Amino acid sequence: MLRSVILAASRSSQVERLVATAPFTRDVVRRFVAGAKTDDALHATRALVDDGLAVTLDNLGEDTVTPDQANATRDEYLSLLRLLGEAGLTPAAEVSVKLSALGQMFDEQLAYDNARAICAAADAAGTTVTLDMEDHTTTDSTLEILGRLRKDYPSTGAVLQAYLRRTESDCRELASAGSRVRLCKGAYNEPESVAYQSTLEVDKSYVRCMNILLSGEGYPMLATHDPRLIAIGEDRARWFDRGPDRFEFQMLYGIRPEEQTRLVGEGYTLRTYVPYGDQWYGYLMRRLAERPANLAFFARALVSKK
Ligand SMILES: Cc1cc2nc3c(=O)[nH]c(=O)nc-3n(C[C@H](O)[C@H](O)[C@H](O)COP(=O)(O)OP(=O)(O)OC[C@H]3O[C@@H](n4cnc5c(N)ncnc54)[C@H](O)[C@@H]3O)c2cc1C
Repeated sequence: MLRSVILAASRSSQVERLVATAPFTRDVVRRFVAGAKTDDALHATRALVDDGLAVTLDNLGEDTVTPDQANATRDEYLSLLRLLGEAGLTPAAEVSVKLSALGQMFDEQLAYDNARAICAAADAAGTTVTLDMEDHTTTDSTLEILGRLRKDYPSTGAVLQAYLRRTESDCRELASAGSRVRLCKGAYNEPESVAYQSTLEVDKSYVRCMNILLSGEGYPMLATHDPRLIAIGEDRARWFDRGPDRFEFQMLYGIRPEEQTRLVGEGYTLRTYVPYGDQWYGYLMRRLAERPANLAFFARALVSKK
C-alpha cells in the first residue's frame, strides 16, 4: 500500500512540484545529494577528500529507455572523470555506475560498450569504476558484463547484496586477487524465493560474506551504516591482518557523517558514495518505493549525525 502511494507520487509532476519547493525538501536533498550539476559534485568531492575521505560518485538518471539517454549518461561520466583527473581528485575519487542507466534493460551490448568507455576514461584519469548492483533480475547480466570489463580493466569493482541467497557463492567466486567487491545488505524489495526476508538472516549472511571476502585475496569494500556490522568488520579485519590499504568501509553521503569521520580518524579508509544530478526526485522516491523501510532509514539520518 505505502509502496504504491510512493510510486504514484514518484510519477506525479504535481507532487514533484510540491515536494521540490517545500522547505523541508531542500534540507533532505542537500543532505543526501551533492547537487544538480557536475560542478556541485566536484565541490562536494573536494570537501570530502580534504577531510581525508575517499569518494565514489553516482550520476543520478531517470529510467533509461533509449540509446540517446544511455549515451548521454556515458558522456556525463566521461566528462566527470576528465574533470576529476584535472582537479587532482583521483585516485581518491572513483565513480559508481548503474548498468541500467547505460542501456542494460534494452541492449546489453550497448550497456557493455558504454561501461567500457567509462572504464577507459577512469583508467586514463588514474581511477576506478564500480558497477552498482540493481534488482535480482539483473544480477547475472551485471556479473557477466563485469567479467568482460575486467579482462581489460581488472580493477572494475562489483557489488554483492547480502540479502540474496546466492551471494555467499558469488563472494567465493569473486574473492580473487585484485578483485574489488563492495558488500552491501541490498536495497530492493526482493521475493523470498531469492532473498532472505528477516533482518537477522540478512545480517548473518552479511557476516558470512564479509568473512569470505576478508579471508580471500581480493579487496573488500564493506558498505554499511550498521554499528554492529562495522564493529564486526573492524574485528575481522584485525583477525585477517588487513590494514587500511587492503579493505575499506563505505557509507552514503549524508548518512552517519560523524561515524564516517570517526573511522577516518581511526586510520581506516572510508569511501562516501555521493549521488549528484538533477534527477534527485525520482531517485529518492524510487529508493523509498523499492523498500519502504528506506523511509525510516532517511528519516533517521535527518535527525542524527552519529
Ligand atoms: C556505499 C554504498 C553503496 C551501496 N550500493 C548499493 C548497490 O549497489 N545496490 C544495492 O542494492 N544497495 C546498495 N547500497 C544500499 C544498501 O544495500 C542498504 O540498503 C543500505 O546501506 C542500508 O543498509 P545498512 O547496512 O546501512 O543498514 P540498515 O539495515 O539500514 O541499518 C542497520 C542499523 O544501522 C544503524 N543505522 C542505519 N542508518 C543510521 C543512521 N542514519 N543513523 C544512525 N544509525 C543508523 C541502525 O542501528 C540500524 O538499525 C549501498 C550502500 C552503501 C553504503
